[in-house]
Amino acid sequence: MAEDCLFCKIARGEIPSTEVYSDDEFYAFRDINPAAPVHVLVIPRKHIARISDASVDDASLLGRMLLAANEVARKEGIAESGFRYAISCNKDGGQLVFHIHLHVLGGRELGWPPG
Ligand code: 5GP
Ligand code: ZN
Repeated sequence: MAEDCLFCKIARGEIPSTEVYSDDEFYAFRDINPAAPVHVLVIPRKHIARISDASVDDASLLGRMLLAANEVARKEGIAESGFRYAISCNKDGGQLVFHIHLHVLGGRELGWPPG
């Protein structure tokens, strides 16, 4: 938990967000500036600034984060039509918020490669 981290504050409920999924370890909420009809962010409650900071101790947490995202995709009705998971890292990855978050994008056909 980091005092000044936007996503730690969202996970703690100190800043409002639209919840999509919540459990002891993860929180998922709608992106404030959606890039697709479904755009949900899945975050661990544990503060990890960037995916490249994750250690072997985080291996099972990262696996469970994907399973939590699968639950989000099912709840949002995009499991069958399809979706994309994305994690931004640092400047070239376009990371703006330094608390790991998995983007769940779907509800339309997504282009490749990303811009
Ligand atoms: P990044 O570029 O770091 O991968 O993604 C950060 C995402 O967080 C962006 O898609 C942005 O729209 C979203 N975001 C930033 N601030 C807030 C906020 O206060 N609330 C919500 N719900 N989403 C946010
Ligand atoms: Zn944080």
